[in-house]
Amino acid sequence: MAVIGIDLGTTNSLASVYTESGVKVIPNSLGNKLTPSVVGLDDEGKVIVGEVAKERLITHPERTAAEFKRTMGTDKTYKLGEESFSSQQLSSILLRKIVADAKAHLNEEIDEVVISVPAYFDDKMRTATKQAAEMAGIKCERLINEPSAAALAYLYKHGWKDGTYMVVDFGGGTLDVSIIDSFDSVMEIIAVAGNNHLGGKDINEAIYNHFCLVNNLLDSNLTPEERAIIYRMSETTKIALSTNPLAVMSVCLNDQEYSLTLDNNSLIKIAHESFEKLFEPIKKALKDSRLKPNELEAIVLVGGSCKMPTVASYIEKITGVKPCSDLDPDTAISLGAGVYSGIKTKNQQLKDVVMTDICPFSLGVNCRDMNDDVVMSFIIDRNSMLPCSQIKSYYAIHQNQTEVEFRIYQGESIIPENNIYLGSMSITCPPTNTNEFIATCRMTYDINGILVIDVTNKEGVTVSKTLVGNNVKLSEKEIATIKAKLDKLRFSDEVDEESQLLVSRAERVIEETLSYERDFLMNALTIFKLTMNKGNSVEKRKAKEDFKKLLDSLEGISQ
Ligand code: ADP
Ligand code: MG
Repeated sequence: MAVIGIDLGTTNSLASVYTESGVKVIPNSLGNKLTPSVVGLDDEGKVIVGEVAKERLITHPERTAAEFKRTMGTDKTYKLGEESFSSQQLSSILLRKIVADAKAHLNEEIDEVVISVPAYFDDKMRTATKQAAEMAGIKCERLINEPSAAALAYLYKHGWKDGTYMVVDFGGGTLDVSIIDSFDSVMEIIAVAGNNHLGGKDINEAIYNHFCLVNNLLDSNLTPEERAIIYRMSETTKIALSTNPLAVMSVCLNDQEYSLTLDNNSLIKIAHESFEKLFEPIKKALKDSRLKPNELEAIVLVGGSCKMPTVASYIEKITGVKPCSDLDPDTAISLGAGVYSGIKTKNQQLKDVVMTDICPFSLGVNCRDMNDDVVMSFIIDRNSMLPCSQIKSYYAIHQNQTEVEFRIYQGESIIPENNIYLGSMSITCPPTNTNEFIATCRMTYDINGILVIDVTNKEGVTVSKTLVGNNVKLSEKEIATIKAKLDKLRFSDEVDEESQLLVSRAERVIEETLSYERDFLMNALTIFKLTMNKGNSVEKRKAKEDFKKLLDSLEGISQ
């Protein structure tokens, strides 16, 4: 029986486990660290997850979904062929696959998972994530903030060195900045800031737009397949620029070739709006923690987008501190979640490590001030340590008032409407005079950032509500119904995933190449499929090796 930590990313997901020999990443069924967070249905209605599904984003966009984490906890649905799924259900399918792969690799039942979520995930998104695990039949008691997990990985590697650290996590769709204090093996997160809508995706889009502009391609005239090809090449070009001074992006559409040459300076120019957005959360985290950059022990970079050299130079420009990058940006969060699973299972080697967490938003209710204006009355301040519980008293505003309504908001603005409305609670009471005490409101945040509100009137009568994601929170029965629906889905694991990946990849490359190469590859694909259907195991293995080599050479990947 094992407990594993899972980084359930917007772009990629991965799992780690803590054992007596330390924490390690669990490879997926294809032997890779990262499983793309992509889910699709094949033509027979079987579920495909990860790398194979990612290849099919171009060839079967109408049957494949990606980046669904961005809409976690919302009503948005994704159509995969004839069927519709919510982001939560797709996450549940993804979790199922990650846990199944981990189980197969460790040769052990997975008892429980710890899942990391962005610090800026609100209550609805957190509840949706935990329930996604339940829908997959997986126990998840604990969520961990992604930056907290990254800090855990860093401190684990550096022997719990005392000091204050900044973690910048720049992934595919989110940016999180956090300040962490570590003292005597006790880790405290003292501030978090971030942007839920900033990531590598925005850089890809900037390259995509620039490519269309210089090649006179009008986005509205392109087919979904053509857009997917240009988008994919935009990302490939961006990744090439992390290790090369120059990258040439070239795309064939309708037998015509379009191209663009980029270097890191031109990338900064075309994506400067996104890079500039790194400033604000970094400044905010420093301001909230009342720290100057030179008081930081280190700035730790994690998340795939931190592999862009421009990111480190921007952060150095903002803070004057050279960030260190000795953690693998791809695996740090998952490893941290893995370390946390070791803490949770009370592993002897980690028995002295304590981790605290904070709530990323202020919470309060609306009330009237002395000028009769409606303003926020803050009950829990942002960055309060979890778990926490705060209470405030309120007074009648009308003569003979017999009811109070508390409207609950999350956010930092003094004007309630500018914040996020979470719901309301009312309580009745005996007639009360203006300015006399009428009721209290208590807000309690548990260790997962789940909010419970108790409203008590002056006679001591209490109404209580778990407010978190009230509009998304599903009952046990509803979860069971969805679980039953997902249980019925057939996963395509009976088929050989490796050959499936090669077929999907070949289909994508066929869409991307022209005449001679295309015909050549189509023939090779037919022969490959024939061998997979009719060949013996030795022939199949050989065919897979050869076909992979062929695809690698066509895509310019050297071994
Ligand atoms: P998430 O946490 O959102 O799942 P990751 O931390 O895995 O995301 O980061 C994914 C992002 O990192 C993608 O936008 C990807 O394009 C980008 N990325 C990955 N490798 C590189 C690289 N070598 N250079 C630049 N960007 C990269
Ligand atoms: Mg991430």
